[in-house]
Amino acid sequence: MTAAQSSPSRSGLLEKLMAAVRPEFRLDILIPDQTDPVLGWRFCAVSGCDRPAHDYEMCKGHGLRWRRTPGRPNRASFLAAPGPPLRGRSEPASCTVPGCRYGTSGQGLCSRHRDRWQRAGRPNPASWAATAAAVDAVDHAECRLPFGALWADNNDDGLCKSHKARWRGAGSSDAEEFVADCERHGTAFIDFRGLAPQVKLELQYAIQSRHDEQTVTLPLHVASWTINRVKESGVGSLLDRSADQWRQMARSRHPKPGWERFRTRSETFLIYARDAVESLRDGTGWDVEYPREIWRLHKLNGLKYSAARPQARIQLRFDRIT
Ligand SMILES: [Zn+2]
Ligand SMILES: [Zn+2]
Ligand SMILES: [Zn+2]
Repeated sequence: MTAAQSSPSRSGLLEKLMAAVRPEFRLDILIPDQTDPVLGWRFCAVSGCDRPAHDYEMCKGHGLRWRRTPGRPNRASFLAAPGPPLRGRSEPASCTVPGCRYGTSGQGLCSRHRDRWQRAGRPNPASWAATAAAVDAVDHAECRLPFGALWADNNDDGLCKSHKARWRGAGSSDAEEFVADCERHGTAFIDFRGLAPQVKLELQYAIQSRHDEQTVTLPLHVASWTINRVKESGVGSLLDRSADQWRQMARSRHPKPGWERFRTRSETFLIYARDAVESLRDGTGWDVEYPREIWRLHKLNGLKYSAARPQARIQLRFDRIT
């Protein structure tokens, strides 16, 4: 445990956070209201897509597919023919025997039909499947996940072969949680899971503060980017790093051209979050600023800095005067 973690000011901060973060923000998964003025979002412009729009009013998946389409058609033509459902939303392949909707286990056949095909001496699988006795759908339960119509492999967990494999691949977490994760994948939500308890509250507090101020919008992907970077850093509190350290970390990411605006917004929110937590811990006002080497005038009531231009923060520096 570091000195910062055991310091009395830090435990005082935890109490303040517990008192400040309201139940609607103190969640592992926050699903913001679509019409919220700060956290609101729109659906992807591709018709039928249930994911939130990012750039060009498309979800991440469709945006990527559009950008990777050879010759990159104009947006309208892409929207008119966006291709098959995105991964995670498409129907997994089913057995090719007529009527059979079990998942395949090679040769286009489910494990039951594959056994029979092997016993039949492995003829051409497609012609064998076409002539096999059709299967009746009665007594077969469908997979619990809504993205395909495959039959569940057994009645215990209610998952089809393909989703069961994915569940095992995900480390076989709780089946309910896996189903919820699959249904949620790519949709509009903010995931606070995997953060240490205090820093989780800090980020919830920062999002709540942005929400309450109603001055700057907070796009979902900006909030998620910030949470993921904090998660990666493994800190127990945003205050474990200075604003400059966070800024450097933010700038070391997103080398890709075209992402400058997103990076600026993400960096701004990260610094905002640290600032909000620090102000909660220390309070704000002249009493707090007066003893400091640098007076942060934006922390004083009545002096607001422009959130769009965070570098325009107003400071009076005494640390450079001998
Ligand atoms: Zn989409
Ligand atoms: Zn089959
Ligand atoms: Zn399934």
